[in-house]
Amino acid sequence: MIRYGQQDITQADIDAVIGVLRSVNLTQGPNIPQFEQSVMAHTGAKHAVAVNSATSALHIACLALELGPGDWLWTTPNTFVASANCALYCGAKVDFVDIDPRTYNLCPQKLEAKLIEAAKVGRLPKIVIPVHLCGQPCDMQAIHALGQKYGFKIIEDASHAIGGKYQGEPIGNGRYSDITVFSFHPVKIITTAEGGMALTNSNELATRLGLLRSHGITRDPALMTQPMDGPWCYQQVALGYNYRMTDMQAALGVSQMTRLTHYVALRHQIAQRYNELMTDLPLTLPWQHSDSYSAYHLYVIRLQLEKTSATHLQVFEALRAKEIMVNLHYIPVHTQPYYQSMGFKAGQFPEAERYYTEAISIPMYPTMSEAQQDQVIAALREALQA
Ligand SMILES: *Cc1c(COP(=O)(O)O)cnc(C)c1O
Repeated sequence: MIRYGQQDITQADIDAVIGVLRSVNLTQGPNIPQFEQSVMAHTGAKHAVAVNSATSALHIACLALELGPGDWLWTTPNTFVASANCALYCGAKVDFVDIDPRTYNLCPQKLEAKLIEAAKVGRLPKIVIPVHLCGQPCDMQAIHALGQKYGFKIIEDASHAIGGKYQGEPIGNGRYSDITVFSFHPVKIITTAEGGMALTNSNELATRLGLLRSHGITRDPALMTQPMDGPWCYQQVALGYNYRMTDMQAALGVSQMTRLTHYVALRHQIAQRYNELMTDLPLTLPWQHSDSYSAYHLYVIRLQLEKTSATHLQVFEALRAKEIMVNLHYIPVHTQPYYQSMGFKAGQFPEAERYYTEAISIPMYPTMSEAQQDQVIAALREALQA
């Protein structure tokens, strides 16, 4: 079986986790700040807050930016549901901006057109969440400029994109956003099993994210709002959650971070080889903007259905029948039953919906062999000739 994505766990990773199991602190130990430091060093961000998932990171990012009832959050329909659900957790409303047909990312021109209309009726978003699909960064400079003009905050959902670059600089450095979120789920670029991180350059946002991660409780006298009773004292100064990462997970993260750059380089080699060996097939291969160095979390092909008699479903099923576990990223969020029940309708975001009828994520992970890759290409070639 060839999976669409697959973690790589080395002996060093295993030793790091066992080291924590033999230590005093299974959670909130020294590996948490070490992991945060390591991601800060890689990205250049000033602050990092490790949490138990990217979903949690998105939630506390929205809260730190004071999203609440009556507010709007906009994101792309071509994403995992978590990028939109975070608004609903805060009691805010969600809307979507359709995708760019080349990058499959949130389209800045469509964002601007929607902002112009929203401004007329006083419904401007408080937060926009661009998602770096497949690891390719969005047009952040354009989105940031619109943020300045229309007064919204930006959370980058970079769940696919640690190790990637935008305009030659690491994704996560926060040049064009308020907060960046990474995911460390096993299919992503590096893993901590479950895990996520929120990065920011703002001291104030970092403090809020830190409080929200752990019940809104502080032991820092500078953050307390009442006099301390004694050295045992902690104070709850906000309503937070238990979104903490364990020290075992952070130790795995520290160990995985040492291979981040190598992993992304291997992903580029695999992508390059797919690009070269599939040029003759009726497929649209991933287009890359010259400003971007993708983390290549996914390699998405789009079927040129007018050039083959096979249907999307047939190609997908033919690959799965050969134990090539292809996937589809993503079912447009607004077509999910929960979102339909909120009033969204099929047809509202046609580019994302058209993409959904043609896209397939074919296997891509750093330890994938050339033989496995050849197997995927041969199966695809056969399926497309059917
Ligand atoms: C994986 C993913 C998430 C959620 O990540 P978790 O760490 O599993 O919570 C959010 N957004 C996108 C785009 C993702 O791919």
